[in-house]
Amino acid sequence: MKPIEALNLIRGQWQESVSGNRFQSYNPADTREILGTAPRSTPDDVDKAVTAAREAFDTWRRTSRIKRGEYIDQLAQLIKRDLNALAELVTRECGKPINEGRADVVEALHMAQYVAGMVRMPHGEIIDSEIAEKDAYILRKPKGVVACITPWNFPVAIPLWTILPSLLEGNTVVFKPSEDTPLCAHRLAELFVEAGFPPGVFNVVHGYGEDAGDALVHHPGVDVVVFTGSYAVGRYIEQECAKQHKFCAVEMGGKNAVIVLDDANLDIAVHAAILSAFKTSGQRCVSSNRIIVHEKIEPEFTRRFVETARMIKIGNGLDPDVFMGPLINEQGVQKYLHHNQKAIEEGAEVLLPGGLLKEGELQYGHFVAPFVYRMRHRSDSFVLREEAFSPHVAIIPVSSLEEAVFVYNDTPYGLAMAVITEDYRKWRYVRDNCEFGVGYVNLPSIGAEVHLPFGGVKGSGNGHPSASALFDAVTHKVAFTVNHGTEIKMAQGLSAKIR
Ligand code: NAD
Repeated sequence: MKPIEALNLIRGQWQESVSGNRFQSYNPADTREILGTAPRSTPDDVDKAVTAAREAFDTWRRTSRIKRGEYIDQLAQLIKRDLNALAELVTRECGKPINEGRADVVEALHMAQYVAGMVRMPHGEIIDSEIAEKDAYILRKPKGVVACITPWNFPVAIPLWTILPSLLEGNTVVFKPSEDTPLCAHRLAELFVEAGFPPGVFNVVHGYGEDAGDALVHHPGVDVVVFTGSYAVGRYIEQECAKQHKFCAVEMGGKNAVIVLDDANLDIAVHAAILSAFKTSGQRCVSSNRIIVHEKIEPEFTRRFVETARMIKIGNGLDPDVFMGPLINEQGVQKYLHHNQKAIEEGAEVLLPGGLLKEGELQYGHFVAPFVYRMRHRSDSFVLREEAFSPHVAIIPVSSLEEAVFVYNDTPYGLAMAVITEDYRKWRYVRDNCEFGVGYVNLPSIGAEVHLPFGGVKGSGNGHPSASALFDAVTHKVAFTVNHGTEIKMAQGLSAKIR
């Protein structure tokens, strides 16, 4: 593959960073393969991009909503045209198997189609007034300049979850992609340019979180920060935005679980648990590091789960038979090893030892094997409460439905929950008593669809879900009342008399 030299996109022009510094993007399946480079932007670049977005805002917000949707429709067509090439780039740059790379791009396409389709749907409300001569409306107005800061693990889909609702509603955008996947972001930016968006409406600054990301969060010209990523960074962004009285929507990590109840269909249970734990090598925000299993069926479930996990094919994601690709980077590997070590220190019964894979070509990538253990729940445990973001999985036996729910909730997070049962009373109890934002019955804890809200509670988010629900975060709902009578009348019987 010819190396890609990414650039910032500011006011419709491709630009090098002010400092001229660049960073490399490499293939996590073979770190010898440098895929390209991108500008290492500084606060100066961020300032240029925010200024461009501010200047473009007034014209863009006054552009008809239908017209704004037409640009997004054009983008959808370009994504469809380039689907295969984009999918391959996703696999090369973030390591996920090619079927998952494709699903990432398909999800981005669905988001573009969904948002473009919304332009002809009602998006305000007419509501009755207490006064017969008054008409009352609820209108949505754009908030201004939206900073979209995204993670590496869905390098095409997640950016569009946040960028497209922002643009459709008349906001302008500065996009700061993950430093692990700048080239996917660059290809996406090229499609925005080809789709003909007016200069300054959509801008990109590449770079590291601590300089480009941080400068965006603190820039006074940014009205809204929409962040998706880790809890540590999301929490920091929440605090910094609060100091500036700036709105933010943050979607963060999870310590998700599959709950397998005593009446579960074991075929479904094992299948759902394997997909939840190991798809994307456990690097989805909705991946399950915990399988909570009723002790009546736990021995048989565990035997089958371990047997299946042992057979998982690990390798370069460009091979269509591979199920698990590499971890994204060296920090990801260190986090996985740290969690495994802590599990042993906390008394886990190790069932699959996991570890780094070093045979043949695998030695050149960040490849690791599934680490699986059995452990009773403890509220003071590190490994049973903190996200491992890797194929690190605890099987936690429980003795009742109520205990399963208690264990599920006993973490700082609340993102995804899957329950496996044939009994509607049981899943209903789980649904109503577990704290989560994305729930499943007889399915894995993974698998988003763009027309559903996506977000978590507690440490997983601040109550502003992404995808179809992001429209609420990037608009103000405005009350607007019109009097078509010939005198002023007030609601609540309030007198309008002056004397
Ligand atoms: P991360 O938090 O390290 O980085 C996310 C983004 O934040 C990157 O673009 C990074 O450059 C930027 N950033 C880092 N420090 C910053 C700062 N000080 N100021 C501003 N921006 C900064 O996350 P990651 O490793 O890219 O992604 C993995 C994490 O994302 C996991 O915790 C995963 O669960 C979470 N995630 C959540 C969702 C969701 O919707 N809830 C979806 C995908 C991933």
